[in-house]
Amino acid sequence: MFKKILVANRGEIALRIQRACRELGIKAVMVYSEADREAKYVKLAEEAVCIGPASSTLSYLNMPAIISAAEVTDAEAIHPGYGFLSENADFAERVEKSGFQFIGPTPESIRIMGDKVSAKQAMIKAGVPCVPGSEGELPDDPVLIRRIAKAVGYPVIIKAAGGGGGRGMRVVHTEAALINAVAMTKAEAGAAFGNPAVYMEKYLQNPRHIEIQILADKHKNAVYLGERDCSMQRRHQKILEEAPAPGIPRKLIDRVGERCVAACKKIGYRGAGTFEFLYEDGEFYFIEMNTRVQVEHPVTEMITGIDIVKTQIMVAAGEKLPFTQRQIEIRGHAIECRVNAEDPYKFIPSPGRVTMWHAPGGPGVRVDSHIYTNYFVPPNYDSMVGKIIVHGDTREQAMARMRTALGETVVEGINTNIALHRELMVDAKFMAGGTNIHYLEEWLDQHKR
Ligand code: ADP
Repeated sequence: MFKKILVANRGEIALRIQRACRELGIKAVMVYSEADREAKYVKLAEEAVCIGPASSTLSYLNMPAIISAAEVTDAEAIHPGYGFLSENADFAERVEKSGFQFIGPTPESIRIMGDKVSAKQAMIKAGVPCVPGSEGELPDDPVLIRRIAKAVGYPVIIKAAGGGGGRGMRVVHTEAALINAVAMTKAEAGAAFGNPAVYMEKYLQNPRHIEIQILADKHKNAVYLGERDCSMQRRHQKILEEAPAPGIPRKLIDRVGERCVAACKKIGYRGAGTFEFLYEDGEFYFIEMNTRVQVEHPVTEMITGIDIVKTQIMVAAGEKLPFTQRQIEIRGHAIECRVNAEDPYKFIPSPGRVTMWHAPGGPGVRVDSHIYTNYFVPPNYDSMVGKIIVHGDTREQAMARMRTALGETVVEGINTNIALHRELMVDAKFMAGGTNIHYLEEWLDQHKR
């Protein structure tokens, strides 16, 4: 096992990884930008290295600075967390070339899965069902593009091959709007992701977003840890997640889970990963794979009792998965609410000084957050400041616990979206379960303030 790991991230996930290291008896080296000097995990760290100014380009995305930090502290491995460099194949390669273990899949796996076109092609080969669409990247010829759209059937969605974070997508309802939409998405994709390639999918009208968590080791073992329902989204970004997905038969989940495991074995995948699907009328359609730990991983940890971050570290060190598929049991129901520093209805970011923070507690309540009273939320990064996660024997109990937990939470000095979560937890349709990916946006439209 490693003696020392460098954590190349910030915020709640940096703290989460630090906690996993502590449990495993591993020293965690924390890196931080000048804006994160006061972060809790930096103060708690045995070792911490400043890697640059507030701007993430100069700090959390600064590969040479991160690798030097690992060199000067004698770390053996680097955990990239999520976001930043976590899905950057060049970074994974540089980490390994510099003699460190990258805690994640191989650079090749990241490269294949990071390009959504090659990811889909790999999944089709592995027998994973995909959203119908163009066979690969869209050609330049407008006549061919129109022909593909006609075959797929309107409405279609044009998506950037290198896209992520809910950006680089455009829905097209009519042939008249098609060519212009393709050109605009290409231009945006080139500017935002450095890759202008786009592809086309059928735009599913009322799907749910269901994803499968997998874990794989370097010895060709792989398992799936059930599913998560992440349909509550705004602008393609998740705000609350739950597991299991209400109302989907276990048999269907098992069937798609087994396909994902087979795909992992086929591509030699290692570490944690998520296969994202749209689910409509009893069918699963693969949309993309995330080759890292995800924000919403705790809901799976709560229903399986498996520590995903610890397992990531163990398999990176070469250990075998400590459980088989048959040993994985799904127990009860878990819900996660993402706490964002923003206006709950207008979504304007609200960085600044937290003058009061009181976290909820009690049975089945977990809080993953790096904030504390008097912490300053820097304006430079993502607005998420923590996650409240609950577990119950049933979905009803989990929702009741979440309502209690949200009721206890106090955050003063900044705005947060907790008020929105409180409303959603008593919304009749959400409570009934199975709402689709448009539900939250429709709800927000009807509850305009
Ligand atoms: P990103 O990598 O930016 O997260 P995804 O491909 O995972 O992009 O898609 C994000 C979200 O966009 C999905 O959860 C879904 O809400 C919507 N979406 C993507 N593809 C389709 C599609 N073919 N039909 C309908 N909605 C889609």
